Amino acid sequence: MTHEVIRIPLMAMSPGTERSLLVHRFGASGARPKAYLQAGIHADEIPGLLVLQHLLGQLMAADAAGDIPGEIIVVPFANPIGLGQRFRGQDRQDGPDPKPLIGSIDEPPGADD
Ligand SMILES: [Zn+2]
Repeated sequence: MTHEVIRIPLMAMSPGTERSLLVHRFGASGARPKAYLQAGIHADEIPGLLVLQHLLGQLMAADAAGDIPGEIIVVPFANPIGLGQRFRGQDRQDGPDPKPLIGSIDEPPGADD
C-alpha cells in the first residue's frame, strides 16, 4: 500500500482554529507516468468533488492490489476556503472566488495580483 494523505496547513480563520488542504498520493513519489487530479478550485462546482470521492475508493482498491505503476496525486477539495464560504448552497458574501492561500515555489500565493 502506497496511499498517503498529506495535510497542508492553510491560514486559520481565527485564533485556535485550523484549516488544511488534503492531498492524496498513490504510488512512489517521482514515479512516472504521473497524473494530477483536482476538484472544486471553484467552490460552487460540486460534481467534481463527488467524482473524485468515488475515484479515491477505486484508487485505494487498485493500490491495495499493487496496480498503481506510477504516481497519482488527488486533491479532492482544491479550495476548502471557498467551500467554507458557502452556506446552504449560497455564497456567504458577494465577490470573486477567493484565491487559494497556498502556492508553488514558482508562483507564490497572490503572485498574479
Ligand atoms: Zn471551474
